[in-house]
Amino acid sequence: MKPKPHIVDLPVYKPGKPIEEVKKEYGLEKVIKLASNENPYGSSPSAKAAIMAELDNLYLYPDGSAVDLTAALASHLGVKSENIIFGCGSDEIIALIARAFLMPGDETIMADQTFSVYKSNADIEGAVSIEVPLLNGTHDLAAMLAAVSDKTKVIWICNPNNPTGTFVPEPELRSFLDAVPGQVMVVLDEAYFEYATDLSYPDGIKLLDRYPNLVVLRTFSKIYGLAALRIGYGIGNPGIIRLINQVREPFNTSRIAQAAALASLGDQEYVQECRKLNAGGRLQLQAEFQRLGLIHFPSQGNFIMVDVRVPASEIFESLLRKGVIVRAGHRLYPTWIRVTVGSREQNKAFIAALEAALMEQGVRV
Ligand SMILES: *Cc1c(COP(=O)(O)O)cnc(C)c1O
Repeated sequence: MKPKPHIVDLPVYKPGKPIEEVKKEYGLEKVIKLASNENPYGSSPSAKAAIMAELDNLYLYPDGSAVDLTAALASHLGVKSENIIFGCGSDEIIALIARAFLMPGDETIMADQTFSVYKSNADIEGAVSIEVPLLNGTHDLAAMLAAVSDKTKVIWICNPNNPTGTFVPEPELRSFLDAVPGQVMVVLDEAYFEYATDLSYPDGIKLLDRYPNLVVLRTFSKIYGLAALRIGYGIGNPGIIRLINQVREPFNTSRIAQAAALASLGDQEYVQECRKLNAGGRLQLQAEFQRLGLIHFPSQGNFIMVDVRVPASEIFESLLRKGVIVRAGHRLYPTWIRVTVGSREQNKAFIAALEAALMEQGVRV
């Protein structure tokens, strides 16, 4: 058989290690996973109730265009239903944008250390990824702008950036959008929007009227705690949303996911509570890193990237043996790990394990 030549050697996405696997492999009873930016407090109780109520309807196909959920979200965000498209996670929206807009030989611009799904989908479409180095862990918008050519189709801005947690402030983002040619799409990935507390952090949705080439991505996987159900969305001008819809499978989100998302959307008190707890957890971890003399990037997300000063793989392994899963393997940051902000107790356990791991590696703290 002859596959498309450019898909043969694509790298496989490496997810955070699952808790059960680590328990078995290391003979541990208790394992804390701070590797995939999941919500340590779970999902809203109203999501569970909505799922239970949906269990009698499993034989029915979902509403392919998620009419009720779309209307509720549109009203919540202050946009129209035709501005919204749902996906099997916002991962799927990224794939659909690539599928609808990127052709072999097209160029697409992203940071050199950012969410890997942009590049993997560009690769699948045979597009050329131009990876622009981060500047102090932050998107270098001037350099990204300078990389635009007449072949550029899509620019990806992850805000806050995964894995560094840094963000592009509103004035810089506006100047950038003012300068990007109108035929180039800018995708603003706001998977961690609800966690950002800095006053200069921009709300991409407020920019949509002024910049018709902008698409904003958000998700129910992070602060809403519904990662298992795979539901995320894109918001953009109706013309772009319609084009992305052209390549969407008819039933790409499940009844269960739609019901849980709708119920979760109605529980904004829960979102606010998680946002507050996360901001506290960020401060807790940052204070501990400072105490340990470790440099970290300032984060607006529910994760922090920190320099452990020895090969990150060593600390990663040592933390695993102590029952804490984090993320390492950042190509350009070989001594940095990314840790999800957990509950107060989880953060404490992580710091204790990190201190011990650093000691084992001979890092003086
Ligand atoms: C987690 C994440 C997503 C998407 O997650 P889904 O579960 O597919 O909605 C998108 N972008 C970034 C930067 C993320 O970290």
